Amino acid sequence: MNLWRDIKGTLQAYAVTFSYLFRKPTTIQYPEERRTPAPRYRARMVLTRDPDGGERCVACHLCSAACPVDCISMQAAEAPDGRRYAAWFRINFARCIFCGLCAEACPTLAIQMSPEYEICKRDPLSLVYEKEDLLIGDGGKDNDYNFYRHAGIGVVNPRGGNADEYGPVDPGALVP
Ligand code: SF4
Ligand code: SF4
Repeated sequence: MNLWRDIKGTLQAYAVTFSYLFRKPTTIQYPEERRTPAPRYRARMVLTRDPDGGERCVACHLCSAACPVDCISMQAAEAPDGRRYAAWFRINFARCIFCGLCAEACPTLAIQMSPEYEICKRDPLSLVYEKEDLLIGDGGKDNDYNFYRHAGIGVVNPRGGNADEYGPVDPGALVP
C-alpha cells in the first residue's frame, strides 16, 4: 500500500515537471528585458505638486512619524502668507523598506510611492535623496487634488462647498 502511494507521489511530481516543459518560460532576462510593475507597486517615493504647480508637502512630519525605520527627515518653514512648506526634505533609501506607511499617513498626497525600482547603488550615501531629487513636476496618482482648496489658508469655498464634498450635517436634524 505504502509502495503504491510512493510510486504515485513520484509520478505526480514528474507529471508536473513534464507539463512545464511545454509552457512559455516566465524568466525575464534582466536587465535586457524589464518588467513593467503594477500601478500600485511600492518602489521609491516621490514628492508631488498641486495642480497649480506648488509643492504639496506642508512639513507636518506625519510621514516621518509613521516611518518604522526613521529614514525621513525635514525642516518646516513658513511662507509670508502662512503656508507651510519643507525647507529641506530628506529620505535615506538605504534604510527604507518600501512599506508605504509614509504615503498612507500623508494628508496632502504629497508623498507617493512610484514604480521606479532601479535605485540600487554601491555607495550608501548616494541613496540619500534631497527634496530636489524627490520632487516631480505633477500630482502623481491624483493630479487634480489640491489640499489648500479643502483645508488650510487657501480654502475658497465655504465648508462642504467644493464639488467633491458633502455639505455639513446638522446633528439635531437627525434626532428622531
Ligand atoms: S516606505 Fe516605509 S520605510 Fe520607506 S520611508 Fe516610507 S514609511 Fe519609511
Ligand atoms: S510628505 Fe506629507 S506627511 Fe510628510 S511632511 Fe509632507 S505633507 Fe506631511
